[in-house]
Amino acid sequence: MFEHLKEQPADKILALMEAFKADPRDNKIDLGVGVYKDADGNTPIMAAIKQAEKQLWEAETTKSYTGLAGDPGFADAMVSLILGEAVPRDTVAAAATPGGTGAVRQAFDLVRMANPKARIFVSDPTWPNHLSILKHMGIETVAYRYFDNETRAVDFDGMMADLAQVTGDDVVLLHGCCHNPTGANLNLSQWREVVALLNDKGALPMIDIAYQGFGDGLEEDAAGVRLVASETPECLIAASCSKNFGIYRERTGLLMAVARDADGRKLNQGTLNYLNRQNYSFPPDHGARLVTMVLSDAELRASWQAELEEMRTGMLALREQLATELQRLSGSDRFGFLAQHRGMFSRLGATPEQVARMREDHGVYMVGDSRLNIAGLNRNSVPILAEAIVKTGI
Ligand code: PMP
Repeated sequence: MFEHLKEQPADKILALMEAFKADPRDNKIDLGVGVYKDADGNTPIMAAIKQAEKQLWEAETTKSYTGLAGDPGFADAMVSLILGEAVPRDTVAAAATPGGTGAVRQAFDLVRMANPKARIFVSDPTWPNHLSILKHMGIETVAYRYFDNETRAVDFDGMMADLAQVTGDDVVLLHGCCHNPTGANLNLSQWREVVALLNDKGALPMIDIAYQGFGDGLEEDAAGVRLVASETPECLIAASCSKNFGIYRERTGLLMAVARDADGRKLNQGTLNYLNRQNYSFPPDHGARLVTMVLSDAELRASWQAELEEMRTGMLALREQLATELQRLSGSDRFGFLAQHRGMFSRLGATPEQVARMREDHGVYMVGDSRLNIAGLNRNSVPILAEAIVKTGI
């Protein structure tokens, strides 16, 4: 039977990681995989998480199953972190999932159950895994314009023109903050326009939020999601704890479905539980429990927020330094977008040939679409990158 299987395309980012490891050059720079790194290139366990792990080890008395939707305390803590007071809690169904990817996958599954005709509108570009999961599931996708390759900002007119095509059968997938891979984001008045259009068309918003706290701050990064949740009748929100809690391998995420009312919530909750049951039964608990402990304990929470804020401002400082260095070397302001973008990523707007030359001639590894991971830099490597960019003629 296995002979009928087809070769699957290798994950490009993971292949890049391998190539980086094999490169013998000392001054090589890894701007590929989307993992936060400190100035020494390490991805540390956050202090509050380490502390919570210690406490959990002491206090945990059983590893028996939790509920199908995971521990209710996790859902409460995360709903509050992401949605604040935007909607009444009794309209929000939520289920823990294996990472943000699990939440995205379950959301698509729910959409397919609710409406097999639904098309999913995705930004061009978007996180490649969105496309690959949708393709695997056989769900039709429609790309909407998002990134202006000249200005490296959001092509908002193009986006709105393309979204004008949505119908009441469709879902529009939006990144909550820190757009991956471009780093270009909607401002609040643009979010308002998108919400008005979706309400006008009756399309369902789905928000993927994987970097809350990496952009402008925990509250600021949730402003778009909160607006959508409070101003549209229904929405889906897929959240990841991988980045902002630094617990990538624990596989911790949450899918939320906001309903019109409490009755709608009941139906949604039953569906989320059902979907967990069909796909993997009980979701992972360890990471979710750590997150709950951190969010519920004043001391741990303060420590987590302070460390997250340090990561965020560190990335912003690197952005500023890179934009300034490029301005100095190139004598032009055309790289100012690097300081405007938010989150871990920026799309440079280089051609695939230029990306290859950056790797071959300068040992700078970035994804083929010219996405660079700002957290892969430190104060010393910024000038090296800036020089490589200018020498490559980007
Ligand atoms: N959505 C987006 C846009 C992402 O960038 C990521 C992480 N690469 C995820 C979801 C999910 O991450 P994870 O499954 O590791 O939580």
